[in-house]
Amino acid sequence: MVSGLELWQWRLAARNRAVEAGIAVEEVDWLLQEVAGLEPLALRLESFKRRSQIPLQLSLKELSQLWEQRLQERLPVQYLIGITHWRHFSLTVAPAVLIPRPETECLIDLAVEAVNNSPTPELNSGHWVDLGTGSGAIALGLAEVLTNASIYAVDCSPLALAIAQQNAQQLGYSQRIQFFQGSWWEPLKACKGLFSGMVANPPYIPRNLIQQLQPEVVNHEPHLALDGGNDGLDCIRQLISTSADYLQPGGIWLIEMMAGQAPAVVELLYQQGSYSQIQIFPDLAGIDRFALAYRV
Ligand code: GLN
Repeated sequence: MVSGLELWQWRLAARNRAVEAGIAVEEVDWLLQEVAGLEPLALRLESFKRRSQIPLQLSLKELSQLWEQRLQERLPVQYLIGITHWRHFSLTVAPAVLIPRPETECLIDLAVEAVNNSPTPELNSGHWVDLGTGSGAIALGLAEVLTNASIYAVDCSPLALAIAQQNAQQLGYSQRIQFFQGSWWEPLKACKGLFSGMVANPPYIPRNLIQQLQPEVVNHEPHLALDGGNDGLDCIRQLISTSADYLQPGGIWLIEMMAGQAPAVVELLYQQGSYSQIQIFPDLAGIDRFALAYRV
């Protein structure tokens, strides 16, 4: 327990340290929401300052040590608290998985639109797969919006898969999602031609750019989730060539990619010969980040 005044003073000092370190002051409040159970509004209006007692899961000294880890080691605050908010899920995250990004939320809405615009709306009750599921974010998002679909989630990392399964359990989706360990489609090779949709946020950063990413990313997030080979397109190329065998006619192929990759991805899809209605969609910043195609 600490008093509101003590915590208010701690917050002020932590915010000053954040400014000095060039880190967003809002992150102090993300931490306090988790460890002190404070509501965003109580933090924003500083009304918690008047509370006589606030339950705190750790001492102020330990809290300062955590915050210093954020500042000095550049550990992302999401790994520090073990949680990230994505769509309206609260997802467990750890350094074995990429922290799901807000722009990836668009993939779920695009999948729904793609089903609605398709001549075969029954796709919504078929088999859907999230390849490279990481924390399980996309699989969970699909399970929520495609209420009659069977969802499959694949990852080559057993550690990532354990986190994805934990998230499905915590959010009440373990009956809806089946998890498989392996490389891309490999664990599903008995199910060729059966899938209504494939959604993925594959590693797409060109290898020589990884070292130039923010220290939070390059020093703490799994390179397995980022590294797309020399031109960043290795995994996308693989998903284009292999998915044709697994999608049913009219099935949906949908991925996230990096800014600038759209022309190359369109060309690869076109050259493969098994896809039609190839389309590119922007993220909320207006940057082309998503590619959609239908299996012929
Ligand atoms: N599918 C997960 C996500 O979108 C992980 C993606 C990845 O590791 N490249 O966050």
